[in-house]
Amino acid sequence: MELQDFKPQSKLVTRTTLIEKPRFPVFDAHNHLGEDFGGWDKRPLPELLGLLDSAGITRLVDLDGGWGERILETHLEHFKQAAPDRFLIFGGVDWSQWPEKGEKFPEWAASRLRIQKERGAEGVKIWKILGLQVKDQTGKLVDVDDPRLTPIWETAGELGLPVLIHIADPVAFFDPINETNERWEELGNHPEWAFTSPPFPPFLHILEGLATVVARHSHTTFIGAHVGCYAENLPWVGTLLDRCPNFYVDIAARIGELGRQPYTARRFFLNYADRILFGSDMGPFPEAYRIIYRFLETDNEYFNYNADPIPMQGRWHVDGLYLPNDVLVRIYSLNAEKLFGQTTR
Ligand SMILES: [Zn+2]
Repeated sequence: MELQDFKPQSKLVTRTTLIEKPRFPVFDAHNHLGEDFGGWDKRPLPELLGLLDSAGITRLVDLDGGWGERILETHLEHFKQAAPDRFLIFGGVDWSQWPEKGEKFPEWAASRLRIQKERGAEGVKIWKILGLQVKDQTGKLVDVDDPRLTPIWETAGELGLPVLIHIADPVAFFDPINETNERWEELGNHPEWAFTSPPFPPFLHILEGLATVVARHSHTTFIGAHVGCYAENLPWVGTLLDRCPNFYVDIAARIGELGRQPYTARRFFLNYADRILFGSDMGPFPEAYRIIYRFLETDNEYFNYNADPIPMQGRWHVDGLYLPNDVLVRIYSLNAEKLFGQTTR
């Protein structure tokens, strides 16, 4: 038998609690409704609302508004205008324009944020290409903390647009792909996710750039996607949360990381209960939501953090955090409501 065919089944006799509905209404602060996540902008809205209702999701941040007018307009019209209480649509920065705009690029990109806000965007999504692939007019890779980007961060702050920023990726994606790489199987399935350094910048170089930007622009609210982009190192994330009151994190697509360090993760949730936002990143699917509810609400042990039989991020299982109600309600919705200044219904 090949190792890839090995599918062991746990013989542990432990409790299994299936959570159909979350204990409190949920504000999903990190999800996608665009082409790569089911193309919900081209499907009838009632179908989507039905799925969200059945999963207990009252509001959802759609990060797929893009940066040009066309996609943003489509998402604003299809989701926001049709169901204004249910959706927030984020815009973004069109980095591909940097070579053409040259040194005027940062001011131009900042002016685009003003237009996006006027049209109805309620935040800015920064994709991980910043720090990995974005190049300036000379063809040089742009650092996350490049001071030329100041107008973009400052304008977002001035407009009151939170910046949801995803930089780098799981730490092991930056390591050589060999027998010691804990994401070897996943990288085998997705070779395009490997950012082995060199030639890519070291993981910590990118992360330090994030910390510098967040500290430098204290009037701008930053949400570090995927547990501050460093779920493998919660002390590092906690230090940045301590230093920077303008920093929040979401938990999107990191149940596998959090749940394999349950004692540290539980302490992290209790310590930073006001700074953590619920996020799924999996499209609007009830089954994916129910795994997150089980993780946050129950003390179930050693369960699959993925809907697939072989968990995608690695062949390990997770333990639940059994968060107390006062913490749970903040992570489920109160923190996001406060941050976005709206009420969950
Ligand atoms: Zn995402």
